[in-house]
Amino acid sequence: SQFLANMSHEIRTPINGMIGMIDLTLMSSLDEEQEDNLQTAKICASSLLKIINDILDFSKMEAGKMEVENIDFSLRELVDNIVKPHKINANHKKIKFVYDFDIESKRLILGDPTRLGQIINNLLSNALKFTQEGSVELKIKKFIGGDNEELIYFTVRDTGIGIAKDDIDKLFKSFSQVDGSITRNFGGTGLGLNISKQLIEMMGGEIWVESEAGVGSSFNFYIPYKTAARKSKKIKVDGKNKKIEEKNILIVEDDKTNQIVLRKMLEKMGYKISVANN
Ligand code: ADP
Repeated sequence: SQFLANMSHEIRTPINGMIGMIDLTLMSSLDEEQEDNLQTAKICASSLLKIINDILDFSKMEAGKMEVENIDFSLRELVDNIVKPHKINANHKKIKFVYDFDIESKRLILGDPTRLGQIINNLLSNALKFTQEGSVELKIKKFIGGDNEELIYFTVRDTGIGIAKDDIDKLFKSFSQVDGSITRNFGGTGLGLNISKQLIEMMGGEIWVESEAGVGSSFNFYIPYKTAARKSKKIKVDGKNKKIEEKNILIVEDDKTNQIVLRKMLEKMGYKISVANN
């Protein structure tokens, strides 16, 4: 686990550098073919990064080093942003996308927005990956649990290939995919659901699936939540009074490529940059 954690970290840094460099080049003037090629390179680098991130998460969990945060955030804002790319993806596949958010929108809750986002993203990506026609639905509502605890209940339902009864037990196991053949039709590491399940349990919740082969699947989970007492502080970017050129930014980063990417991007935005290795 330690080796995997180290390796994933070592692999992630250069991939981030590659994506940054691609982004920088995409900001320059290119002809259509060059832009297409770079977009493809970016998709490849991003899928590689996704795999590495899964392995890093998995090894962190194996080593007992995974932690979840407890900060206040707007669930509505988080989920609204998450569904955007999935809606576009559904549109491309001519699949109906239903998003139903049935909780008071203004409420801030306490929890880990990044990890919660990761779980929802994983379930939506799977739903869209395994559905060729029909619909994908995301429903979010709240209910009161047994000991008066407030719970948020998430459902991701699809009309995709479904899962046979005998295979349902395999789903949340690490590295397991229902279709284990070499000529699998769908990509993936088989880690997503295992990571999601562990994260949900760390948050005090539970995940389960109802599915029928050839009909579709419904992945359901709940997490207990508390409403944040204080208002979240929004950092105001004061762009009016100060000219952007007057702003100095110190980048502290030991990776040379990342230094270059960050420096160039921020300089393009008009900031003055200094770099320190540590
Ligand atoms: P992967 O990255 O391989 O998708 P997951 O852990 O997310 O890994 O999923 C494991 C396996 O569970 C998938 O390979 C697939 O066989 C099955 N699966 C997950 N979601 C669905 C779904 N919505 N419909 C049908 N099968 C699914």
